[in-house]
Amino acid sequence: MSSPGFAEALVLRTQQLTPHMYRLTFRSEFAADFTLGAPGQYLKVLAPALGEAGPPVFDPDTYKSRMRTYTLRHVRPQVQEFDIDFVVHGEEGIAGPWAKQAKAGDRILISRPGTLKFTGEGADWHLFVADMAAIPAAAIELEGLPEHAVGDAFFEILSEADRQPVRAPAGINIHWIIKADSHAPSDELIDAVRSVTWRDGAPSVFVAGEFSIAGTLRSFFRKERPTRKDLTYVSSYWKLGLIEPEHKMFKAQAAA
Ligand SMILES: Cc1cc2nc3c(=O)[nH]c(=O)nc-3n(C[C@H](O)[C@H](O)[C@H](O)COP(=O)(O)OP(=O)(O)OC[C@H]3O[C@@H](n4cnc5c(N)ncnc54)[C@H](O)[C@@H]3O)c2cc1C
Repeated sequence: MSSPGFAEALVLRTQQLTPHMYRLTFRSEFAADFTLGAPGQYLKVLAPALGEAGPPVFDPDTYKSRMRTYTLRHVRPQVQEFDIDFVVHGEEGIAGPWAKQAKAGDRILISRPGTLKFTGEGADWHLFVADMAAIPAAAIELEGLPEHAVGDAFFEILSEADRQPVRAPAGINIHWIIKADSHAPSDELIDAVRSVTWRDGAPSVFVAGEFSIAGTLRSFFRKERPTRKDLTYVSSYWKLGLIEPEHKMFKAQAAA
């Protein structure tokens, strides 16, 4: 069966960045068209479920329920390569468990990328809030900020050892919040944002992570700390207890 809109991606290298984050480097013909320096490109991956042999077979009846979304952490179009940083969040799911045991030579299918509609350009200061799934996207934004940028970045991680180097301007204070159980709801990120010193001028706000955290912060920014629409990105990347297609449906219903 051909796979319309998808291409194979070959695993070239794997690297365990931290206890719960694996970086996989892929080569794919699609990567020749990826854009260098574009903020927050993301794509769909179709990986084999654990126990399934070989590259995933494209099945028009089931592929939608198996696709998972990932940020392109680095792209090297000239050599058709890209990196994805996968959170390993337990035994459940397809992409996370697959990434943990993936090795050079394994294959997945990938879609062409989309791009986040967000830029902090024109903001006086910057606020970033991300859990582990969104650290890759937030890190790309931080790397693109001008040297003089100021602000705060809150990253929720699963353990002290999950801190990772993030290249940000010196004026961005990076705060690491440890939450050992990603399968239990918590308010640590929300409390941290509530207590941040609000600076003068217009902030850019980037929030991405678990559904309920994103929802609470969305209404916080709407009601208590109004921010400019064009400088605000709040997005849920996954939802406790739901697989990605269920989360997507839930998100669409919540927005309707
Ligand atoms: C635009 C965008 C960019 C993203 N970029 C990245 C990225 O670069 N790296 C990355 O790791 N993720 C990223 N994600 C999140 C990723 O798509 C989801 O975490 C996805 O559900 C993982 O698929 P899975 O097959 O491992 O688990 P699923 O089959 O979707 O879910 C299985 C179970 O695991 C739980 N679960 C799913 N994700 C997590 C998590 N992160 N922590 C704890 N429990 C979880 C679910 O609630 C469910 O109970 C991104 C999402 C979006 C929308």
